[in-house]
Amino acid sequence: MSKAMHTELRLAQRMSRLGTETAFEVLAKARALEAKGQNIVHLEIGEPDFDTPAHIVDAAVDALHQGFTHYGPSAGLPELRKAIADEVGATRHTKVSADEVVVVPGGKPIIFFTMLALVEQGDEVIYPNPGFPIYESMIQFVGATAVPIQLREEMDFRLDTRELKSLITPRTKLIILNSPQNPTGGVMTLQDVEEVAAIVAETGVMVLSDEIYSHLIFDGDHHSLFSYDHLRDQVILLDGFSKTYAMTGWRMGYGVMRTDLAQQIARLVTNSNSCTASFTQKAGIEAICGPQASVAVMNDEFKKRRDYFAGRINRIRGFHCRLPKGAFYMFPSIAGTGWKSKPLADALLEEAGVAALSGTAFGSYGEGYLRFSIANSLDNIRIALDRIEAWVEKNVEEKAAKSLARNL
Ligand code: PLP
Repeated sequence: MSKAMHTELRLAQRMSRLGTETAFEVLAKARALEAKGQNIVHLEIGEPDFDTPAHIVDAAVDALHQGFTHYGPSAGLPELRKAIADEVGATRHTKVSADEVVVVPGGKPIIFFTMLALVEQGDEVIYPNPGFPIYESMIQFVGATAVPIQLREEMDFRLDTRELKSLITPRTKLIILNSPQNPTGGVMTLQDVEEVAAIVAETGVMVLSDEIYSHLIFDGDHHSLFSYDHLRDQVILLDGFSKTYAMTGWRMGYGVMRTDLAQQIARLVTNSNSCTASFTQKAGIEAICGPQASVAVMNDEFKKRRDYFAGRINRIRGFHCRLPKGAFYMFPSIAGTGWKSKPLADALLEEAGVAALSGTAFGSYGEGYLRFSIANSLDNIRIALDRIEAWVEKNVEEKAAKSLARNL
């Protein structure tokens, strides 16, 4: 038999510009350590540890039996689009029609499709840094220039609106906002949103407002740029089911936008996924229109974990952490340890058995921070903090931590 020929894989140039989400890589590394017998507490992955509520699962099973197993319209089932329009209208204090809604398999495709539909080579896109890594990845993939706006700890990780204004140029095609924010838990105040609304009105720039954590807020209310009727032509709202209803694996999210753009995004769906799974969408109707108690239960539990985590990590040498106001992540500064983020995240995984993400997984301004997901039980969070504390006792010198802390 002749030897199989090995042909060189010649990828398209654009693939070299595509980034990734480190959480999945750290998860794989943690699983490999587990396979070798090491015990790991998982605080790396950003998905609720709760099960999807039973009434939503039942709706999907019923839909399967009823034959919702076929292709559906690319923009989504009309009943689901209507339910989303009503829900977004109620929560953002405005009126929304079903033809402004596009249902897609997860929140992520709205980032992907918006970028493909609007952004060209040479355009500039302003995005939060530290921020969800897919923004920077997609901006670069489409050949645009990624313009970071730094979120600073001293501002509770809210963006500085004056800085935002100063970054806008004639080439700015899109601004990406994210509140409540991943990875910092920062939340825009009403005043922040008003100031951004004024900038957006003045400049005419389009905005992708990623509100995937809109229901996961601990203190105060969620404020959205989508509530400003005079900006509706410029704002694309991203929200979905993954985080609110613990449905990450179902893959269902949506965008709400001007109808002419919604039609174009639906064309991108036709060209890629064809549609979102039909029985999944039936479950989505139940999620929105059925009982909402599970959302409050999850929120209360995340809040308890947040308070516990912050109370303990702030007593660990070299760490300090603000209280996040939403989402389910803790983003402590590690500046006082004298360690850089990536080596510290690696050491905690390999030597302490705690999986967390380096702040730099969320962009260059994430240096000096770690991200811990609190989507794990309070018992496991307690074990993780015990392990971190013990590891720090051995590996971070008290004197060094004190002098570093003084210089912060
Ligand atoms: N946007 C942000 C800020 C996120 O953190 C995530 C998921 O982690 C998404 C979008 C994507 O959500 P989905 O899993 O529904 O695609």
